[in-house]
Amino acid sequence: MACRTRPVRSISRDRADPIEGPHHWLAMKNWARNYVYGARRVHEPRSIDEVQAIVRTAPALRVLGSRHSFSDIADTAGDLISLAALPRLIEIDRRGEMVTVDGGIRYGEVCVALDAAGGALHNLASLPHISVAGACATGTHGSGDGHGNLSTAVLAMEVVRADGEIETIDGSDADGLAAAAVSLGALGVVTRLTLRTQPTMLVRQDVYEDLPVDAFVDHFDELASAADSVSFFTEWGVNPVIDQVWLKRRVTVDDPYEPAGELHGASLATIERHPIRRLTAEACTAQLGVPGPWHERLPHFRMDHTPSSGDEIQSEYFIGRGDAVAAFVALLALRDRLAGLIQVSEIRTIAADDIWLSPASGRPTVAFHFTWKPDTDAVNAILPLVERALAPYQPRPHWGKAFTMAPPDVRAGYPRLPAFERFARTLDPAGTFHNAFLRRYAFTGSD
Ligand SMILES: Cc1cc2nc3c(=O)[nH]c(=O)nc-3n(C[C@H](O)[C@H](O)[C@H](O)COP(=O)(O)OP(=O)(O)OC[C@H]3O[C@@H](n4cnc5c(N)ncnc54)[C@H](O)[C@@H]3O)c2cc1C
Repeated sequence: MACRTRPVRSISRDRADPIEGPHHWLAMKNWARNYVYGARRVHEPRSIDEVQAIVRTAPALRVLGSRHSFSDIADTAGDLISLAALPRLIEIDRRGEMVTVDGGIRYGEVCVALDAAGGALHNLASLPHISVAGACATGTHGSGDGHGNLSTAVLAMEVVRADGEIETIDGSDADGLAAAAVSLGALGVVTRLTLRTQPTMLVRQDVYEDLPVDAFVDHFDELASAADSVSFFTEWGVNPVIDQVWLKRRVTVDDPYEPAGELHGASLATIERHPIRRLTAEACTAQLGVPGPWHERLPHFRMDHTPSSGDEIQSEYFIGRGDAVAAFVALLALRDRLAGLIQVSEIRTIAADDIWLSPASGRPTVAFHFTWKPDTDAVNAILPLVERALAPYQPRPHWGKAFTMAPPDVRAGYPRLPAFERFARTLDPAGTFHNAFLRRYAFTGSD
């Protein structure tokens, strides 16, 4: 079947499927519906040949993933290309050390097949709905002192360059891989990714409730390393507590592990919880310590449900792990302002890596996440306060979420940006894949 190309205004706003679906004649929005894409057309190639043909003729192009970012990062004044209609590829190597997937696939699809073949990924984000290529392009992360973000699993990539030729980037060029693993979509169309895998594993999830703030401050290091993956959730509030601590622990079939009933003043939950306390846990992965496959425990949300609250804008800032408590105390001083607009905040740790544009590049990292109510003006008004509070700790904003930091402050967090720009120029000399986001935050010498 031939490639389909449609004007953006004909695209469904159905969240479950970015492109296919009823013909609503509405402007195409991102998943959160806080951003309307300005692109002229969306191409939906059905083969790599078609991808190459589109790239060869388009003067300005960006790739659309699953649209879970909260900004114009994926947009363009030219054409968009979605890989959702490419044939799905999940190629697991015989030794069980890697899996090669296509550039449009979502984590949920990869995980089920990989688990069935006895494999696993080292970590996952809070939701399995996002595309692998889009998540890696933005440095998407899960949680855990010992776990790098999802881009750290990338062993090789195939990219359709601006001239339509296919470039393979792999470990034979360590610098190239470190440049390309978090690409912000600037290098071309990623049509294949090879990810490092490990043997499948069971994971259990235990939740503790109402951790006193003093306990969080006094015992942060111990708490953050209390399991393989730890998330702290707070809604701030007048008398703030850490409402929930989620511990995800790798276990064996007959593991004798029994969680303590109490953790520095927090009590073990006896019913399943949603990170946003007012919501039911129906959309969440199983808790109460029941062991299950890694891909049904590492994400907070189930593939067949709407993740998070659904009506929201997200922001997130990454700082050095050593500053976690000081940054938390600085944010605590804003709690009256935060409480009015927040649905929930999440605090997670991420291992350091050496990927040039990774938010965890060069430093063990702690991430302060904010799920805001869906009020763009109010979010834009509060973000400068949050950013000022975090400024002493050299915050790096999540590439895929909302932020208001000045471009020079964003660039200051990434000393390898000029080298990244030079690398990108080798694949895209004329800037076909440049867009307004890249011109603001990444490419100082941009057209
Ligand atoms: C409910 C929810 C929960 C989230 N949870 C987390 C979380 O736990 N951790 C976290 O770190 N983030 C989280 N995010 C943010 C999310 O992971 C990122 O925004 C990620 O980029 C989404 O991937 P996507 O496929 O939707 O990308 P899009 O938003 O569609 O695109 C993002 C970027 O990737 C590029 N891109 C996509 N596909 C390709 C390709 N094939 N080739 C080249 N470039 C490409 C685009 O051009 C763009 O620059 C969450 C978002 C939501 C909505």
